Amino acid sequence: MRSSDSPMSAEDPHGADIAVSLEGVVKKYRDQTVLHALTLKIARGEFLTLLGPSGCGKTTLLNLIAGFAEADNGEIFIDGQLVTNLPAHQRHIGIVFQNYALFPHMNVERNIGYGLKMRGVPAQEIAERVADVMRLVKLDGLGQRKPKELSGGQQQRVALARALVIRPKVLLLDEPFSALDKSLRGAMQVEIRDIQRQLGVTTVFVTHDQGEALSMSDRIAVMSAGRIRQIATPDALYRSPQDPFVASFLGDVNILPAQYHGEQGGMIQLRLGSGLISVNRTRLVGQQHDGGRLDVYIRPEQIQLEPLHAQSVLSGTVVNHVFQGDHINTYVDVDIPVEGRQRVMVRSPGLQAMQQWPVSAVVGLALPDDGISIFQPEARHA
Ligand code: ADP
Ligand code: MG
Repeated sequence: MRSSDSPMSAEDPHGADIAVSLEGVVKKYRDQTVLHALTLKIARGEFLTLLGPSGCGKTTLLNLIAGFAEADNGEIFIDGQLVTNLPAHQRHIGIVFQNYALFPHMNVERNIGYGLKMRGVPAQEIAERVADVMRLVKLDGLGQRKPKELSGGQQQRVALARALVIRPKVLLLDEPFSALDKSLRGAMQVEIRDIQRQLGVTTVFVTHDQGEALSMSDRIAVMSAGRIRQIATPDALYRSPQDPFVASFLGDVNILPAQYHGEQGGMIQLRLGSGLISVNRTRLVGQQHDGGRLDVYIRPEQIQLEPLHAQSVLSGTVVNHVFQGDHINTYVDVDIPVEGRQRVMVRSPGLQAMQQWPVSAVVGLALPDDGISIFQPEARHA
């Protein structure tokens, strides 16, 4: 269905109204398809993150929304208006580039006011709006400096102010923290999110950093090779990945080979290691299986080390402990019949695990009753 009428009639993420809508958007560079018929709706005021490895098409998608690149097929709507063929400067979008792209010869005030000047806003109003936005991003007193006289964090504030001063319909942020050191990055993440909430501006944020995505977003669209693999809240993506790529890209995960054994009362029995585990059937992603091999996905913090006993489903030998400050990762080599040896990561909150289970200790691994995801191995290549 081609909807040149209105995207507002389409189903939306939260019953909210839609600020940006992409419908079947295709982008090719020569014969390489970079975005495959991508459909995406972003609610007004939402902070949506595009998360995926380098080269998966995140920047390309931002460029299409901004109007810096042209789609080969499909339609883009902003506030219900079809903008697919509208030039960038008429789309009313604020963008912060990875390298900030400030004008080196202009001072801070003129950098920030540039977009307003281009739009023919009167000088008096420019001065007021620039002063307001400089207060918002905490740049007071730095108006006369040139970009090279600013720290990295201050340059980023200028880039953000320049994007916000035009009161954009949509704010696009392309890996804005990549040039900042780690401690500054955390502070800027909180600050940008605060400002975004205060203004209620619809925001599309691009990152390849899963921690950044999990901590900042209303929803995350996980991308790989020009496709959205899953789009959901951070919590839902982490707890119920619907795609093996999503499960392994977002947070650490152990993937263990298991064998289908049977089912009863909504539970699937799987043969895993030397025993059987029972998993709620709803955790079988896609609900299909062929009665053979299934992959069990378990987060490291869901496994507990325990003294080896006769009923232990999995057992193994401690190979290493890695101290991480607020937690410890313990690596355990587990022998799985037929499949062979597999290294499993277990995460514990304190130092106790390290003292109780020294390297080369033999341990049992206790698995959780829920929260495990099961995938058909073929799905990994889907
Ligand atoms: P990301 O931002 O996720 O790292 P990009 O959107 O920059 O990825 O790139 C997606 C794919 O498109 C990559 O394979 C990249 O090489 C290709 N690509 C991006 N821009 C161009 C271009 N202007 N010309 C040709 N290929 C491009
Ligand atoms: Mg990019």
